[in-house]
Amino acid sequence: MQIIKGASGYAARLLGVQIYDAEKEYRVSPFCIFVTAEDGNVLAANLLTREILLLSVEELAFLQGNRFCGALARTFAEKWYLVAPEFDAYETVERVRALVAAAKSTPDVILDYQILVTHDCNARCFYCYETDRIARHVPMSEKTANAVADYILAHAHGKRVMLRWHGGEPLYNIEAIRTIVRRLTAAGQDFISEIYTNGYLFDADIVREGMEAWHLMRVQISLDGTEEIYNTCKAYIYKDDPSPYQRVMRNIGLLLETGVTLYLRVNIDRHNMDMLKSLADELYARFGSPENLGVYAVGLYEDRENINTVRTADGRTEIVNAIIEFDNYCRRLGIARENPLGNNIKLRRCLADNPSAIQIFPEGQLSKCDHAAEGCLCGDVVHGVLSQEAVTMWRERANSPANCRGCAIYTDCIRLKNCRDDGPAECDASYKAERLHKLENAVRFVYRRYLRAAQSENGEEK
Ligand code: SF4
Ligand code: SF4
Repeated sequence: MQIIKGASGYAARLLGVQIYDAEKEYRVSPFCIFVTAEDGNVLAANLLTREILLLSVEELAFLQGNRFCGALARTFAEKWYLVAPEFDAYETVERVRALVAAAKSTPDVILDYQILVTHDCNARCFYCYETDRIARHVPMSEKTANAVADYILAHAHGKRVMLRWHGGEPLYNIEAIRTIVRRLTAAGQDFISEIYTNGYLFDADIVREGMEAWHLMRVQISLDGTEEIYNTCKAYIYKDDPSPYQRVMRNIGLLLETGVTLYLRVNIDRHNMDMLKSLADELYARFGSPENLGVYAVGLYEDRENINTVRTADGRTEIVNAIIEFDNYCRRLGIARENPLGNNIKLRRCLADNPSAIQIFPEGQLSKCDHAAEGCLCGDVVHGVLSQEAVTMWRERANSPANCRGCAIYTDCIRLKNCRDDGPAECDASYKAERLHKLENAVRFVYRRYLRAAQSENGEEK
């Protein structure tokens, strides 16, 4: 066996080496997944310790067998690919998460800010979940923007913070971004940022400003179709622009030139599923496959509490199959969004269960969730976090031992009880399939990186 990625992270450190006992009847850990790489080799990834091994044919046959003894059994057991009868997968992950949470608990330090500078937007996507907020749109005022900056300064405790510019369309209230950034910069606060935008309002000057003054690390643009579908679906307010799509494509080019990481998110449903390959071909023909471009699809927002948006099991399977097919297609073109298998098991779902993250609304209210805003406000930037009850409510989990014990992806799956974005209340086969697909590709990505590094090392030696 060859180690492609060493064991890492909290779980590996806390577990250490499993003591092998030849008297015990070992079984393959539920967190061991086998992944066939593009070159036909088989990798074994331990999602708990985050180790990835390249297996020989004999080693693979051994692990896929049912009698585990001898030297190989010892090796695989010590690395937690084989586990003893008393190993409880669910409890182990829970214990690691609880220990890390306790060790990292730093009340009052907030390092991750999702800032909605406006609810308003220059597009009118038919699926927008913000429409009622747009109707009441109140852009963040200069006074509130200054209060936001002061709140950040009071809670950063000298550490670097991440600012996520959100809306509505955040560039629709660029002045609020500028005010916050100016105040933080003047105070010497270290920060980086990313922006979630439709990309329409960028131009060369704003791109430069974003890179230099806002310290943009990542840009995510929603691009929901090829030209005609996009223009129809986005329904921009600019009736004199014959094709907003062309303008957004121009801006994608400007952003790619800067080297910033650019994710293109394609929201899909039945209305636009058929164009996915054409869109990928078009992006590839126009931009090639630069390292900083990552394209991916997601199923259109499915709000658990709104029966009109909840898909049937078959409908969900259809969407997930389309997402996976599109992802594979983009990968062949070299434009897929790639993520390596992380060094740690998943410790939190989102800002809702992240104690050092908060969302700020245009009027300065604090919240723990993107959606259901009115039901989950927990304070404001002037008075700080007021409702610990709301904060605690957002941490409640939907995973349960009855469902998740023995599930391979539990290390990377956290579902929150009050999240409206996780699809049906109980996870289903398509939910698992999509996540497993991502994890397998994260393993393949690490392997490809390993091979590239080995190749360039050999090249240099020669
Ligand atoms: S996919 Fe379902 S069963 Fe598996 S860990 Fe997530 S919630 Fe639990
Ligand atoms: S909708 Fe779900 S994923 Fe999004 S912030 Fe709220 S809890 Fe988190």
